[in-house]
Amino acid sequence: MKVAIGLGCSLGPRRRMLELTVQKLGAHPGLRTLAVSRWYRTPPMRGGTALGWFANGVALFDCALSLDDLLATTRALEEASGRRRSRHWGDRTLDLDVLLAAGARREDSSLTVPHPGIAQRSFVLYPLLEVWPDAVDERGLRYADFAEPDMPRPAPIGIMPRPKAR
Ligand code: ADP
Ligand code: MG
Repeated sequence: MKVAIGLGCSLGPRRRMLELTVQKLGAHPGLRTLAVSRWYRTPPMRGGTALGWFANGVALFDCALSLDDLLATTRALEEASGRRRSRHWGDRTLDLDVLLAAGARREDSSLTVPHPGIAQRSFVLYPLLEVWPDAVDERGLRYADFAEPDMPRPAPIGIMPRPKAR
């Protein structure tokens, strides 16, 4: 089963953390790395407590695990990174979200798949489309069609974001 995992980090050497994490996920016997997006630099989400900027990206895997085992794997990596999960949308050394799994739909207290925030969050949507251009949501709608022309594009790391026009 094809699965997309969203990665985020707002503390420390962010890009290195995300690259190491992709390596660790790909080394899991139940996961094979298919593609990794560029890394994007994004401001913290409004309404949250995070202060630092985030590095975000999406990695695509061929997954032989159940969704529960996948979530256990991503949670273990978050814990190992020293993450504390107290604050709402707070700064974190590692955030791993199970974004999408081909043909799978799940909604209970531990897991919602597809992840409900994909279409509204440009830092998830654009890297997801980079690795999975024909991804569809639970209704069969193409995520590519949610990318509105006026939706701000996240800035790939290495390119400074353009100052806002006044
Ligand atoms: P957020 O990513 O919104 O900042 P957290 O990373 O702290 O929040 O996630 C808290 C919980 O959300 C996880 O422990 C998990 O049980 C639940 N959750 C629900 N759906 C998902 C999903 N698709 N991927 C990852 N976690 C999910
Ligand atoms: Mg999360």
